[in-house]
Amino acid sequence: MYAMTRLWFESALLPAGWTRDVRLTASDGRIESVVGGVAPEGADERHGIGLPGLANLHSHAFQRGLAGLTERRGAEGDSFWTWRELMYRFLERVGPEELEALASLAFAEMLEAGFTRVGEFHYLHHDRNGSPYADPGELAARLAAAAARTGIALTLLPTLYAHGGFGAAPPGERQRRFINDPQRFARIVEASRRAVDTLPDASVGVAAHSLRAVTPPELSEVAALARGGVIHIHIAEQLREVDDCLAWSGQRPVQWLLEHAPVDERWCLVHATHATAAELQAVAARGAVVGLCPVTESSLGDGIFAAAGFLAAGGRFGLGTDSNIRIDAAEELRTLEYSQRLAHRARNVLAAAPGASTGRSLFDAALDGGLQALRPPGSGPAGLAPGAPLDALTLVRDHPSLIGRNADEILDSWIFAGDRGLIDCVWRAGVRVVSGGRHRDRDAIERRYSAALRTVLG
Ligand SMILES: [Zn+2]
Repeated sequence: MYAMTRLWFESALLPAGWTRDVRLTASDGRIESVVGGVAPEGADERHGIGLPGLANLHSHAFQRGLAGLTERRGAEGDSFWTWRELMYRFLERVGPEELEALASLAFAEMLEAGFTRVGEFHYLHHDRNGSPYADPGELAARLAAAAARTGIALTLLPTLYAHGGFGAAPPGERQRRFINDPQRFARIVEASRRAVDTLPDASVGVAAHSLRAVTPPELSEVAALARGGVIHIHIAEQLREVDDCLAWSGQRPVQWLLEHAPVDERWCLVHATHATAAELQAVAARGAVVGLCPVTESSLGDGIFAAAGFLAAGGRFGLGTDSNIRIDAAEELRTLEYSQRLAHRARNVLAAAPGASTGRSLFDAALDGGLQALRPPGSGPAGLAPGAPLDALTLVRDHPSLIGRNADEILDSWIFAGDRGLIDCVWRAGVRVVSGGRHRDRDAIERRYSAALRTVLG
């Protein structure tokens, strides 16, 4: 089917910057032309403020169902590690149907938040008792089905989780659904490629869960399976992980990775919270993306990423909603900047230059870094440019938070004074999947989610 789209924006953020009176045409989901300074014509669909869709580079979609259920302090005090136990317990009751239902709501909400692509870091591979499904791609296919249902562009990141800790420590009972050796993992990667085969703009990368979960030879095998695609890894999220890595290797996690793996522009280092200035300089020099998940990192008490020094060194970052406790691009960017303000006791810490807008600086960086982390090199144009998929959003022009705002003030007001509620429409591959802030299938997706979550929570 040949589908033509003609949109007209009062103002839009193009790769060259803010442009007024913009007509954008697309066919079969891909942008054909973008022209500024033109009056709307009869066939144009008219909108106020147009922005390119963002990439959400790190998600565990099923964790959406756990949001808000881990906010009670235990007898010994709470940490990432006690949270992880609760997450494992939740996961024990998630089967294929539940995974698809939870992921569908998470993906729909990502679209409502202005994320048009998601990187799903997928480490849940086996049945509840730990035995493999007959189809090794059973759960990958469920994630692909959720992407198809919602329309979001999917970068599926099948993840090797082989051990319970550094030095090939045996996995715990509750990790049995994640565990593979490299041979079985290779079959899951193949099955993942088949699962996304018919999804527009989909891509398969690979991930190693963490340095805790793979040995050095296994990490090399994971990287080889990427076949030129992207490679993700959780790294240095927790101080205990840094201490354990030092005890195991004499090196800190980021330091070890840079010395032993061919880290380059295809790599995404998720978190990198506990890295020294020298480590972050080296990451920046390699051109790798750091995957920041500021809301989850706050929620889990991980620590504060040294973003100011990293960006000053030319470091690239993208955003992840990770635990999906909140799904809101503006909130991620705001939390990132606010963490720096609290740490440095200063304002507008992450603005790219004197006089630059902080919102614009953060939006541009997250747009570029997010797409770099989720698409293989050479994937073609991105943003509101000819040849790119038409992945875009509009903001509610007459929202109280946007009255009298122009150009970068719009981004500053959305990010620092707004939230998901400022988003009006979202297009993915030329299809309008969100209108009035609501995903077109939200009612049905919510019903299925409610039924699945009741089953999981018993
Ligand atoms: Zn994660």
